[in-house]
Amino acid sequence: MYVVKFEDLNKSDIGIAGGKGANLGELTQAGIPVPPGFVVTAETYAKFMEDSGINDKVMNILDEIDINDTKALQSAAEEIKSIIIETPIPEDMILLITEAYNQLCQRVGEDDTDVAIRSSATAEDLPEASFAGQQDTFLHVSGNDEVMEYIRKCWASLFEARAIFYREENNFEHSKVYIAVVVQKMANADKAGVMFTVNPSTGEEIALIEGSWGLGEAVVSGDVTPDNYQVDKKDNEIINVTISDKKVMYTNDEDGTSIKVNVPEDKRKERVLSDDELIELTEMGKRVQAHYKEPMDTEWAFERGNLFLLQARPITTLGDSVEETGDASSDLGEVIVRGLGASPGMASGNVKIVLDIDELDKIQDGDIMVTTMTTPDMVPAMRRASGIVTDEGGVTCHASIISRELGIPCVVGTGDATTTLKENSGVTLDGKKGLVYDGISEAKEEIAAPQGGSVEAAPIITVTEVKANVSMPEAAAKAAATGADGVGLLRTEHLMLTAGIHPGKFIADGNEDELIDTIADNVMIVADEFYPKPVWYRTLDAPTDEFITLEGGENEPEEHNPMLGWRGIRRELDQPEILKCEFKAIKKLHEQGYTNIGIMIPLSQSPNELRQAKALCSEVGLEPHKDVDFGMMVEIPAAALTIEDYIDVGIDFVSLGTNDLTQYTLAVDRNNEFVAKHYTEEHPAVMKLIERTIKKCVEAGVTCSICGQAGSVPHIVEKLVGFGITSVSSNTDAVAEVRKTVARAEKKIILDAARKR
Ligand code: PEP
Ligand code: MG
Repeated sequence: MYVVKFEDLNKSDIGIAGGKGANLGELTQAGIPVPPGFVVTAETYAKFMEDSGINDKVMNILDEIDINDTKALQSAAEEIKSIIIETPIPEDMILLITEAYNQLCQRVGEDDTDVAIRSSATAEDLPEASFAGQQDTFLHVSGNDEVMEYIRKCWASLFEARAIFYREENNFEHSKVYIAVVVQKMANADKAGVMFTVNPSTGEEIALIEGSWGLGEAVVSGDVTPDNYQVDKKDNEIINVTISDKKVMYTNDEDGTSIKVNVPEDKRKERVLSDDELIELTEMGKRVQAHYKEPMDTEWAFERGNLFLLQARPITTLGDSVEETGDASSDLGEVIVRGLGASPGMASGNVKIVLDIDELDKIQDGDIMVTTMTTPDMVPAMRRASGIVTDEGGVTCHASIISRELGIPCVVGTGDATTTLKENSGVTLDGKKGLVYDGISEAKEEIAAPQGGSVEAAPIITVTEVKANVSMPEAAAKAAATGADGVGLLRTEHLMLTAGIHPGKFIADGNEDELIDTIADNVMIVADEFYPKPVWYRTLDAPTDEFITLEGGENEPEEHNPMLGWRGIRRELDQPEILKCEFKAIKKLHEQGYTNIGIMIPLSQSPNELRQAKALCSEVGLEPHKDVDFGMMVEIPAAALTIEDYIDVGIDFVSLGTNDLTQYTLAVDRNNEFVAKHYTEEHPAVMKLIERTIKKCVEAGVTCSICGQAGSVPHIVEKLVGFGITSVSSNTDAVAEVRKTVARAEKKIILDAARKR
């Protein structure tokens, strides 16, 4: 069969139609609305190559080349591709393909209708194998001549240099790999996005939907921060709506080519999906999941009110919690890059080097993202990556914090990964040891598979509370699933950075209410997940070098050393309007019944700052200690050494921010990989400051916690329990381990006391 309609295919037809074609057939047969189309089968390609006599020619060229000679490989690839493109397609094939295209045009009622043409490789012996770099897509193809031209281009794409290299490297015989071509009516979406039919982090039965304006490319590529919705599948209750600032969209220009344009100003912050549309999507998600009998990751589009599904695949991140890899790395290849282990776990994939934000769409599911340093705009692409490697940074930098929260293995501070690692080469990274190995092997892929997996709740009871740190509201459910006793640090910076607008701009534009709502809406997600357990909201700690990138951030001063500069509570007291909006947001939530939120001020160096912050809080009608618990972070040696003076001013809790406390005690910039080897929380001076703070708090009956990275390091936590710390707040991935450590340390204290009697 040369051509098969979607209606006549199902998921077992990968050998005929490739993975994509088989899947579209399966969905069509299940009655799920997908844009109609057909597949030019793998057999057609094989027959074309054979009957036209070019197969031998091509195989002879391939026999001759040395794939490690890049130039020779490139020119062989070009030669083969032009042979395929220039060889006429046999008449009988043309007739059948033309007929199928004309029928499609008739069916949708359009002459020369726009189609998407996609290639999908498949192998004779291994129909389920996936082939890197052989998934070309051509959009907005129209008319019989163009359709023929692009089908040939898809066939030719089987001989891109990278595809040839990949097959040689993985011992696939070139003559046994075929290519099917999917021809599908283009969905000219007004709005589009993705939907997970369960929460991909926790497996909870909610539909997690992301949507934005225009074609789905904007969401899938990570070019836009989409709106985020959650719908409870039991009763279709909409449990969360987060509207983001959608700056760009893809749309069709006059020739039907898709182009990236700015979203009109009045639509940027408009909600994309109505309640009815969310319910329609959720219902479709339920049908897809019921059909495949497993949770699915889908791409959807609305075109003039009609909903279509464009893609559906099983969610790969669900599964058991990340296993300890033990000495699995002992049989890994050569170490090619070294850095700091910032987020534990093993990951394998192809390297994609991102030197500019415009290159983010290079990152496909499962790639290893290699960049100088991550920024908040990169988060959507980070989510697609199976691992992250950066040149700069330490274990408390942006990339480290976010990767840990996303559950993605990460190595930071390598110094030279962006120049040493080769684009598209296969690597394996160990996010615990901070190593990047050459190559991918089956074993490594297995290790990488549980990336982002669910985290099991620890059934151990401890007196010392074990809480979780949260930076992104979307990570709250996963954090709560650990059974953590609350959130010991809710960072606000990420909320602001993803909103994309400088908080000062909201105020300058008279949009104070919008700023309050943005904060309240995001904090509510976390407060909800943990209710009635406490969530400590940390007021904004905005470093000028990060906030300069935001819209309205152009007035941020250029500081020589932002780490020692205008950030934390000192900055907020200079800009009290922003701090007051934060307090008003917490007040709003308090009035809605979220009485579990506490407030914590960052980076204080004098008790007077605490006094002033509390006064501003009262000024907005939220009474510290009465309406909300009011606390502070100890991040500057000055605060640790004068903690009793803060206690005199009045404080409900203290949390040790050891990331900053360490950098300020040791004069080591925590973001600077050149001095990373000097950075250690276990330096006796840092430990003395920690011990002093805990003991003074214990004496005064003030709750004392830790939320710096040291709180995720079991052997340090053991010492802190000995000092009398009342709670520990760890990264989500470390909660279970830390709880075990705490339990052991508590038992040891009891035993030691008993033995002394
Ligand atoms: C700290 O400094 O330890 C801390 C938790 O705050 P951040 O990492 O956000 O500076
Ligand atoms: Mg800090």
